[in-house]
Amino acid sequence: MPVCFGRRIVRTCKGLWNGKGGGFRCGPQGSESDMVLITRKIEFSASHLYHNPAFSPDENRRVFGKCNNPHGHGHNYTLEVTVAGEPDPVTGMVLDLKELKEILEREVMQRMDHRFLNYEVAELKGQIPTCENIARVIWDLLDPQIKQGRLHRVRLYESADLFADCYRNGAAC
Ligand SMILES: [Zn+2]
Repeated sequence: MPVCFGRRIVRTCKGLWNGKGGGFRCGPQGSESDMVLITRKIEFSASHLYHNPAFSPDENRRVFGKCNNPHGHGHNYTLEVTVAGEPDPVTGMVLDLKELKEILEREVMQRMDHRFLNYEVAELKGQIPTCENIARVIWDLLDPQIKQGRLHRVRLYESADLFADCYRNGAAC
């Protein structure tokens, strides 16, 4: 049975919150924290296939089904990137959204849009490019680039009814 359709997957990522106070929380204004979550969404198209070289051809077909087709298949991915932080009192913004757009263009679009993920994305080399693994790679690419606020969640939709979530240190608020 194909593993890339019809399931909701929650994938947590490594990483620790090192912000002030030593903890992570979010809540309504006036609560202990004035943290706000802001999300930017982009879309990209890419192709992939699922294949584990440790499996026999039969095992690959049994485990991955149609996703093991050697010629691959495509998806229109939707990526939601959420950053947490307190709005700057001068700009009113958690972070410069133009800068976030540039980071997403550089780190995700240029790397993955219209690519065959198995062969053209170095960060996925040696991994099966499932929705979970792609989301994890995107987390690792974006986290060091975001200097204002802290990366809170990466949500990657492979289709309307399937997405993977990455959170810092597995925490969700
Ligand atoms: Zn697929």
